[in-house]
Amino acid sequence: MKKEVIVLNCGSSSVKFAIIDAQTGEAGLTGIAESLGNKNASLSYKLNGHKEQVALSENASHSEALNVIQSIISRTGVTPIAIGHRVVHGGEKFTQAALVDDSVLKAIEDYASMAPLHNMANLKGIVTAQQAYPDLPHVAVFDTAFFQTLPEKAYLYALPKSLYREHGIRRYGFHGTSHKFILDSMATMLNQRIEETSIISAHLGNGCSVSAIENGRAVDTSLGFSPLEGLVMGTRCGDIDPSLPGTLQKKLGKSADEISDLLNKQSGLLGISELSNDCRTLEDAAQQGHEGALLAIELFCYRLAKYIAGYMVAVPTLNAIVFTGGIGENSSLIRQTTLGYFAHFGITLDEQKNDAARFGHSGQITATNSTMPVYVVPTNEEWVIASEAATFA
Ligand code: ADP
Repeated sequence: MKKEVIVLNCGSSSVKFAIIDAQTGEAGLTGIAESLGNKNASLSYKLNGHKEQVALSENASHSEALNVIQSIISRTGVTPIAIGHRVVHGGEKFTQAALVDDSVLKAIEDYASMAPLHNMANLKGIVTAQQAYPDLPHVAVFDTAFFQTLPEKAYLYALPKSLYREHGIRRYGFHGTSHKFILDSMATMLNQRIEETSIISAHLGNGCSVSAIENGRAVDTSLGFSPLEGLVMGTRCGDIDPSLPGTLQKKLGKSADEISDLLNKQSGLLGISELSNDCRTLEDAAQQGHEGALLAIELFCYRLAKYIAGYMVAVPTLNAIVFTGGIGENSSLIRQTTLGYFAHFGITLDEQKNDAARFGHSGQITATNSTMPVYVVPTNEEWVIASEAATFA
């Protein structure tokens, strides 16, 4: 019997939904309701390969979108066994997925102070879906849970320790379901147990993170207290001098919220290129000699290479370096430029394999004489959420 699971990812203005076969990862239905609460709210989905568009009312709410999603799901004829909910912040309480009950809902709400936009939207999604599907197990799968194995030396900031004890100020890490998927896939590809698999995985999408995983356990990761630290991202700055937000507030006469907006939404690839946050646009422009695009790609790859090199310290038993996410899976230019920094470590690309690795293809992209194999593996966060939720059915 198929074990089909509804996967919901409720964001502040969107709901992504899917029906995933927990055993095979196959997605019978995928869709997204976007611009919720705005004039141009819309919903589109793909069912067994056919694309459909559904009109939503102006300023449609999450509840309205979930009602429409429920009716789409009921027309598929699928009998789901569980609902898996992506939840961004699980603090230190959740080291794995949890069956939703009142205490779990309360904890998600408590952690909303650390991820206000995300956790409250996640919570709203769970509560609405519970009303729509009262008889199914609802399972919260946390972005942060995979990183609860980080050692103190990796998760603590060098701040007064009382800030950690009293306010939970520490590195939490995000994109955990993606890095976990990459770890599991690499164990299978390398034909070894997860507990003996050690990788550095780079998830490069609109948000970007790199993780150090030693013998199946995360030991470091680049996203920190919030999803702003670390790599250069689409519109997020990643690492900067911590004195800058205060300095910018004074210099520009802006509020803390305005500076946060600048660092989260106007920086990264977009800020440097002064053109776009989209890697495809930047690659095209770079080919035409656009200086901003060339510089943004250079900064992106240099920062990434420094992180990967740094994490080699954290993973002495390293088996492989892995690229994933929209950019990691598709951009041979980003992979080539990043790995170019490792020539003197003896890591050499097979250019043909690198160029061929895109659009869902996975495999090794290094030459046979490379000192370290590098892989491209398409991520599948929905499958991780579905399989974790299925264990509670
Ligand atoms: P999200 O973090 O929102 O899930 P994705 O993982 O889909 O994002 O990644 C989006 C990024 O992937 C964008 O910067 C996009 O330009 C980039 N991308 C997608 N396809 C390609 C491609 N063929 N070449 C280069 N970049 C690509």
